[in-house]
Amino acid sequence: MRDLYVSDLLTRGTSEWNRPLIESILSDLAPDIYLIKPIIYMAEDTYCWLKTKTGSCSVKSGYYAQREESTTQVTLQQAITSFNWQKFVWREMTSPKLKLFIWKLCRGALPLGTNLQGRGIITDGSCPHCTQPETALHLFFLCPFARQEWNLAPFHSVPNFATAASLHDCFAFMSTLLCLPPTGISSNLSPWILWGIWTSRNLILFENKSVTARSMVVNAVVAAREWLLAQVVNTTKSSPTQTGNETPPTNPDVIYCNTDAAWSVSRRAGLGWCFKNAAHSVYSEGSRAIDHISSPLMAEALAMREAMQEAKRTSLLNVWFRTDSQELARAINSKSYPVEIFGVLMDIELLSSSFSFVFISFIGREHNGVVDSLAKSALQNHVSTLY
Ligand SMILES: [Zn+2]
Repeated sequence: MRDLYVSDLLTRGTSEWNRPLIESILSDLAPDIYLIKPIIYMAEDTYCWLKTKTGSCSVKSGYYAQREESTTQVTLQQAITSFNWQKFVWREMTSPKLKLFIWKLCRGALPLGTNLQGRGIITDGSCPHCTQPETALHLFFLCPFARQEWNLAPFHSVPNFATAASLHDCFAFMSTLLCLPPTGISSNLSPWILWGIWTSRNLILFENKSVTARSMVVNAVVAAREWLLAQVVNTTKSSPTQTGNETPPTNPDVIYCNTDAAWSVSRRAGLGWCFKNAAHSVYSEGSRAIDHISSPLMAEALAMREAMQEAKRTSLLNVWFRTDSQELARAINSKSYPVEIFGVLMDIELLSSSFSFVFISFIGREHNGVVDSLAKSALQNHVSTLY
């Protein structure tokens, strides 16, 4: 079973499971494997954190995951337990990438010189900026380069970590740092500074490039502001779905497509979709039944994907897709994809780009009767379809 890739289990050239192969070598796991719906279109691989529903790592879930592990590092465990995560890290308004990074930093999981030496990996273990041993406390707070960064950062008062005895002390102090106006940063800049220190260290070490502390601080401020601005945009974009007020720009050529799914506990689903023009006359409709569907949400997502594929096949250009799953509409519009349906939503994202106008929104169940019947009858008249 070594050297077996997921792609080896797919029928060549398709995104469908190779059932005879799976039944012969992984028969015990087959039902679980079929529940996973392979992505149809090429999408970039991405890391996914299985401990949260959204797949993005939160420090909180990381902390619980860490607690679940039976670790022999009792002292580290104690240090983490006594750490006030709620105050210092969880509430930080910062990107998931930085949360993961900070979690690693606190957890002693960054490949720092001294950590690597501790694991028996040959390295001289010294800081790339000076000759001191590269501990987290040194690299991020005490090293002259780090101090320069902290001094240049636009904080209200100059941070001085010189008396800090531990990372804990540093994080406690960091949480008190305020940014000066007019940086436009309402949340804590510290995680971005830490990230800057980490990336400059890696640039020196792996690319032999030197970076000035000043340019790193400028980058940190810019990145923090960009991230904050992007959060504001995301909230505005997703609000129509959340409030149920559908207000896309009107287009007379738009075709409306309603989708729906019916799901049964036997993990079968019926999918239905229906295209109508602005005059509400039915343009085309379709349905199908499929097996091995993990949840109603997965079924709704697959119904949407089927409908979009159908719209693409028939060369529709302006389509407004509507689902009666608020959860699905919200996930798509906020781009926060639950792990379970991540691949299907990536396909939907890619399919969206093939239309000149596309809008996806929530529609009340009471307005979705036609497709509801289509989906239900597909489920009832179910003839096992391999998917
Ligand atoms: Zn140093």
